[in-house]
Amino acid sequence: MTVKQPIVFCDFDGTFTARDVGHGLYRRFSGGGNTELVERWKAGEVSSRECLREEAAMMAVTEDEVYRFLDGFPLRKGAEEFYRTTARRGIPFYIVSDGADLYIDYILKKNGLQGITYYANHAFVRDGHFVIEFPYDNDGCARCGCCKGSRMREIIGSDRSAYTVVFIGDGLSDICALPEADIVFARGDLLGFCRANGTTAIEYKSFFDILRYLNTSGIFTG
Ligand SMILES: [Mg+2]
Ligand SMILES: [Zn+2]
Repeated sequence: MTVKQPIVFCDFDGTFTARDVGHGLYRRFSGGGNTELVERWKAGEVSSRECLREEAAMMAVTEDEVYRFLDGFPLRKGAEEFYRTTARRGIPFYIVSDGADLYIDYILKKNGLQGITYYANHAFVRDGHFVIEFPYDNDGCARCGCCKGSRMREIIGSDRSAYTVVFIGDGLSDICALPEADIVFARGDLLGFCRANGTTAIEYKSFFDILRYLNTSGIFTG
């Protein structure tokens, strides 16, 4: 049996971070005005792009206020150790996110993790308003802003059988990643979705749980 190369794809909001940064940011600076919109997104009535665009349009904010707010969002327990373990062992690790580069970049740098490659939507503050753009094509997916399934297929390329694909997530923006993964670690809404739809998923609380599983199952060797 040939040993497969593990490759890890990880959601950012509420997964790599302890709480959902984007949701907190939109709620805080839209004065809660986004609540109904998020419910409509969860029900599948609006796409991520529509939802994010409308949320961004509701936000009145300066760049300083955004960064100060972001200082209140720690990483999930074990996230840094998990990433450093993959880096040390030469295991590819990517963050795939339907959130925004503005805060992912800030939080990764703040934690000394600017070496992590991530894919996300593009956001910036202009004239006291939050603006979001969608630089990625989504391979036909009408649901996502930055589609995790599309990103994973692009990164993995044609030699799919060479990899054991690990996905770690927590929410409904992770759904497109599920068919691309061999092993899914889930919590929150994603765990509920997996259970309701017969997708095998391993529940986790911290990244130490995930590391333990991957080490003892032989998927992370070396
Ligand atoms: Mg998430
Ligand atoms: Zn998608």
